[in-house]
Amino acid sequence: MQTTRSADLFERAQRVIPGGVNSPVRAFQSVGGTPRFIQRASGPHLYDADGNQYVDLVCSWGPMLLGHAHPSVLAAVGKVAVDGTSFGAPTEAEVELAEEIIGRTPVEEVRLVSSGTEATMSVLRLARGITGRDKIVKFAGCYHGHVDALLVAAGSGAATLGLPGSPGVTAATTADTLVCEYNDREAVRRFFAEHGDQIACVITEAAAGNMGVVPPAVGDDGQNFNAFLRDICHANGALFVSDEVMTGFRVSRSGQFGLDGVRPDLMTFGKVMGGGFPAAAFGGRAELMQRLAPAGDVYQAGTLSGNPVAVAAGLTTLRLATDEVYAHVDATSAALQAEVTNALSAFGVPHVIQAAGNLFSVFFTPDESVTAVPNYATAKTQRTDRFAAFFHAMLDAGVYLPPSAYEGWFLSHTHDDAALTRIVEALPRAAAAASRA
Ligand code: PMP
Repeated sequence: MQTTRSADLFERAQRVIPGGVNSPVRAFQSVGGTPRFIQRASGPHLYDADGNQYVDLVCSWGPMLLGHAHPSVLAAVGKVAVDGTSFGAPTEAEVELAEEIIGRTPVEEVRLVSSGTEATMSVLRLARGITGRDKIVKFAGCYHGHVDALLVAAGSGAATLGLPGSPGVTAATTADTLVCEYNDREAVRRFFAEHGDQIACVITEAAAGNMGVVPPAVGDDGQNFNAFLRDICHANGALFVSDEVMTGFRVSRSGQFGLDGVRPDLMTFGKVMGGGFPAAAFGGRAELMQRLAPAGDVYQAGTLSGNPVAVAAGLTTLRLATDEVYAHVDATSAALQAEVTNALSAFGVPHVIQAAGNLFSVFFTPDESVTAVPNYATAKTQRTDRFAAFFHAMLDAGVYLPPSAYEGWFLSHTHDDAALTRIVEALPRAAAAASRA
């Protein structure tokens, strides 16, 4: 596969952009090699600057549920753009997008923002404003964007790079952030026993997807981790905040909430609801959201919030994300998971596949003794060298996986039999490469 143009662009990029990329995981740092510079995309395919075609299993890290360059989304974007691209004043379409989100989730009101980071940052301020408390609880390996207070034991790029936090995040900013392992009920109980009256909220990914996919575990009481968190928050006057930026409108029409039915007090959304444009949101019960300015006293704002082009893309995407779309993505995901397991097993590569609905990831576990990955501590025992070998063999065969062992694999409605066949044909060689690493 010829990649000279990507290599040239990467070299040029590194002279003007730190690390050559505008978001760390794109640099292929944890898998090595040259990141592909993408020129265009269509349906399930990416095309790089050298003209190579890939079946895309990243889908822009989630947003492209309908596939790339969906004709209806493009038409909607083109139609609104000619009428002006930003007004700094309210529009009817924003109301429609809010109504669509509310129709699919338990939130009663939403505020639109431009990124998932902004959504989680704002929701923390709101939770602290409402409760008058300072402390928050988050989980190791959960990533909520690069919000200072949440950049503590974060997953995603931060997990990949092994950064415990980041220089520039002050001790004061994170002093009120309590961190423990995901799915660790005892640790959460201890936090509440010690600081119960100071905890504003617990924030969790609705199903963790940034340390690989780690679903909320079901306990002996038959309740999952989210239900446990909701109950312990409510028993202590704290708010339960569910981050559905990744899972929202992807793992079901109602996100992880559609799978487990655990009702959070506040939620964050992003990715799919922006249809490939910068749009995100946070929402919750009306009386909580009414504390936001201008209805209430907790300040939050944005020049491009509710941007008409992003809203048109998001609204069109959600309206087209029918039950049929989710059924297709679910079935494709199940088929792909089975094929990956078959291939890795055939070459004796120890692995664990975990899923939250159609979002799944493959953990290259150190040996057969690891049969489940409940938290970040276990996720970190992965053989990233085996993943890197697997990744590059897939890439060489024209399959674009997330360039990190700590990420979910994303499918779209356009991943058809032909796309699946291409992935399946690439698997044996990749599994063999992993087995030799
Ligand atoms: N929360 C979760 C669960 C995420 O997965 C992400 C991004 N991957 C974010 C928040 C941050 O979103 P953004 O990158 O749009 O700031």
